Amino acid sequence: MSRPVRILVCGGGIAGNAVALQLLRGGTAVTVVERAPVPRPGGQAVDLRGPSRKVAERMGLMPGIRKRQLDERGMVFVDEAGRQRSRMPAEMFGGEGLVADIEIARGELNQVLLDEIAGRPAESGVLDYRYGEWVEELEQDGDGVKVRFASGATDEFDVVIGADGLHSALRERVFGPEERYSEYLGAYIAFFTIPTPPGTGLETGWVGVLPVPGSMVALRPDPDPATSMAIFSTRVPADPALRGDITVQQHLIRERLTGYGWVIPAILDAMPAAPDFYFDEVTRVRMPRWSQGRVVLLGDAAYCGSPMTGMGTALALIGAYLLAGELLSAPADFERAFDRYEQILRPLVTEVQKGTEKSVRLRHPETRRGVAIMQILMRVLVSRPLHPARALLTHLIGKQGEYPLPDYA
Ligand SMILES: Cc1cc2nc3c(=O)[nH]c(=O)nc-3n(C[C@H](O)[C@H](O)[C@H](O)COP(=O)(O)OP(=O)(O)OC[C@H]3O[C@@H](n4cnc5c(N)ncnc54)[C@H](O)[C@@H]3O)c2cc1C
Repeated sequence: MSRPVRILVCGGGIAGNAVALQLLRGGTAVTVVERAPVPRPGGQAVDLRGPSRKVAERMGLMPGIRKRQLDERGMVFVDEAGRQRSRMPAEMFGGEGLVADIEIARGELNQVLLDEIAGRPAESGVLDYRYGEWVEELEQDGDGVKVRFASGATDEFDVVIGADGLHSALRERVFGPEERYSEYLGAYIAFFTIPTPPGTGLETGWVGVLPVPGSMVALRPDPDPATSMAIFSTRVPADPALRGDITVQQHLIRERLTGYGWVIPAILDAMPAAPDFYFDEVTRVRMPRWSQGRVVLLGDAAYCGSPMTGMGTALALIGAYLLAGELLSAPADFERAFDRYEQILRPLVTEVQKGTEKSVRLRHPETRRGVAIMQILMRVLVSRPLHPARALLTHLIGKQGEYPLPDYA
C-alpha cells in the first residue's frame, strides 16, 4: 500500500476530532463516526500546560481557545461553614499549581476543534462526519479494513483509529473485553451544571473546594455567573449497579453528602434537574500494545489515566498530534507509524499513570481528622510554596513537565 488514504476515526471526542483535524490538514480522506446524535457538551475544565499547550499552539488552536477560555483566577479550600481556609491563585507556582493559567471547559475545547475542522483549508482531505453512527462489525486483512456500521452502511478503510473513550467498543471488538485492560482505582466522579447557589462566598473566577470525609465537592463558576459546575468525587468500592443507572448514581451522591454544609444541600437539590449529569468510575486503562494490524487506539480508549490525573484531555491531544504526525510522515508504512506513536508517547503515559491510587487516597481522607489535616496541609502549601509538602501537590496535579515533542512540519 502506498499511503493510508482512507482513515476511519471512531469517536468525536477530543482525541478523535484532534487526530481527524491533523489528518485532514495533511490531505488524508477521513471518516469520523460519533455515536452521539450531536457534539457532546459538558465536562470539567481542562488545564493546558507543558506539552499539551505546545501541541495546542502547534495545531493553531490557541486563538480559538483564548476566545473560549475560562476566567479562572484560582482555587480556594473552604470549610463546612463556607469559611475560606486556603487560597491558591492561578499565578502561584508560575501557573503550574492546581489551576493552570489556561483552562477551558472540555466541551468548549471540542468546539474549537470542530470549528477548525469546519474552517480547514480547501486543499485538505475529504471529510465524511457522521453523528449517531458506530461500527457494528469490522474485518481486517492485508488489503484493508471492511466495516459495517450500525446504520447498515458498509465501507472499506486503510486504517481505523479507535478514539471512542474509556469504555471503547472498538477496543472490545479488536483487543478483547474491557476487564482485561481497565483497573478500578477506588473512586467515582461526577460533574453537572446547576444554578449558582446563593451564599457560595466565592469571588468571580474562583473555584471552591470542600473536602468531607470520604468525598470531595467543588463548585466551578461558569462564564455565565448564573450557573456553576458541581464536581463530586468519592472513594467507595466498585459497584456494578452504578454502571449507566443515573438513579443509582445520584442515590450514591446523596448518601455520601447528606448532612454536610456549605452549598452541599443546594447542590443535592439541583442535581436531579442537571441538564448534563456526567458520572463515571475512576479507572485506569493499561494495554500492552495500542495497535493490532490496521487498528490503533487513541486517547482514553488506549491509555485512560482517570480524571484524577487531570491529564486525560492533555494526553488525548498530545497522542492525536503524534499519531497524525507519524501517519503523515510515513504514509507508506502505517505499522511503523503506530510503533513510533507508541514509542514516543508511552513514557509520558507511564509517568502520568503512576501513583494514581495514592492520589485517590490523598484526595479523599476518610475521617474528619483526616479532612482537618488536609486543610492544614493546603494552608502550609500556599503560604510556603517551597515547603516539602509541595511533593503532595505533584500527586494532585497533572504531571506534564518537560517532554520532548517531535516537530512535524
Ligand atoms: C460528555 C463528556 C464529558 C466529560 N467530562 C469529563 C470531565 O468533566 N472530567 C474529566 O476528567 N473527563 C471528562 N470526560 C472524559 C475526557 O473528555 C477524556 O478523558 C479526554 O478528553 C480524552 O478524550 P477521548 O476523546 O479519548 O474520550 P472521550 O472524551 O470519552 O470521547 C469519546 C467519544 O467517543 C464517542 N463514542 C463512544 N462510543 C462510541 C462508539 N462505539 N462509536 C463512536 N463513537 C463513540 C463518545 O460519545 C465520545 O464523544 C468527559 C467525556 C465526555 C464524552
